[in-house]
Amino acid sequence: VHSSLPRCGRLLSTSSRCRTVMPAWVIDKYGSNEVLRFTKNASFPIINYPNEVIVKVFAAGLNPIDVAMRGGYGAATLSMKRDPLNIKQSGSEFPLVLGRDVSGVIMECGLDVKYFRERDEVWAAIPPWKQGSLAEFVVLSANEVSHKPKCLSHIEAAAIPYVATTAWSALVNTGGLRKDNCANKRILILGGSGGVGTFAVQMVKAWGAHVTVTCSQNAERFLRGLGADHVVDYTAGPVEEPLSALEKFDLILDNVGGDTERWALKLLKPWSGSKFVTLVTPFMQNTDRLGVADGMMQTAATVASKALKHLMKGVHYRWGFFAPSGSALDEIRDMVDAKQIRPVVEETFSFSQVPQAFEKVEKGHARGKTVVQIS
Ligand code: NDP
Repeated sequence: VHSSLPRCGRLLSTSSRCRTVMPAWVIDKYGSNEVLRFTKNASFPIINYPNEVIVKVFAAGLNPIDVAMRGGYGAATLSMKRDPLNIKQSGSEFPLVLGRDVSGVIMECGLDVKYFRERDEVWAAIPPWKQGSLAEFVVLSANEVSHKPKCLSHIEAAAIPYVATTAWSALVNTGGLRKDNCANKRILILGGSGGVGTFAVQMVKAWGAHVTVTCSQNAERFLRGLGADHVVDYTAGPVEEPLSALEKFDLILDNVGGDTERWALKLLKPWSGSKFVTLVTPFMQNTDRLGVADGMMQTAATVASKALKHLMKGVHYRWGFFAPSGSALDEIRDMVDAKQIRPVVEETFSFSQVPQAFEKVEKGHARGKTVVQIS
């Protein structure tokens, strides 16, 4: 295990040798955009376990969860993950660094790391309980990291990992899709124009599925350009009406939530293994509101009763979650390098413009991803 002494890695320039601090955007309490603070004195990350790597961040992607976490979303659940024995005082997560996507270069490897070397160009999705990528350096487990696609710039690469590993977890691990079982499957993506949707459309299209998406009317061309076969405008009236007129679906990915569960499961082919996977779940809110034990109980009871209710009607109801995975990113890299998936960068901000980048994400109506150039 590496010591916690300031590192003197060979990759570091003389001026950055043996540093203990680095520039970062941090928050010291939860709130709106004014809690974001730039500092040159954030703690330099430390390798605590032999399977960890330190990555120099070139670009960081923002996601709606960054805006939500800035406001305190998931604080109880994530504290439990950071400090399972509940030893630390409340507020020990601060100063907290947000930013869930990273593209950069490996600067230092723990002693057990075999798959990466210093200077490797990598990308990763950072779990929400870890310090994020709005900083010059970040420490990650090697199994969360993957070699980045050679054909992408760091800015482009930072637009993919968090939404891609979320879509992968929801569609592959929960939804049971694979590249060799999608041909002729009919897939509906509710909310196609944002980060998860623009990735998911391309992924299942590359695997041969027939893809229908819902989005605003002004995103129709954009989504057809990403491979959608059929586009339904949800702003034109109750979207369930045009969707009900279509042939039924094998899988629905819900990126929208709200009242979708009221009507969407009726669009699935019954008694044929079809699945509804929603990414919009009350899991974190339950734990934040009720505490860990009661929140978990509430979550288990809710998901079990919904799953059972829908199973009796012949369809599967599931909750999907982000899951960090370097191996999923390896497969996604191959799809990107094969030009089956392209990054969708809607807007890029400089490191000094992080508050503006948050404002952009907070406004909603995303058409792909918001990325911050770090160095
Ligand atoms: P984005 O903000 O990038 O995209 C949301 C998109 O949905 C926008 O393009 C928006 O555009 C569109 N939209 C809004 N309302 C509707 C509607 N009624 N029908 C169709 N489209 C709509 O979000 P992400 O793609 O990053 O995430 C999607 C959802 O998944 C979020 O709720 C997020 O919290 C959740 N999520 C959950 C995870 C988990 O672990 N469970 C992980 C990652 C994401 P417009 O308003 O212009 O139509």
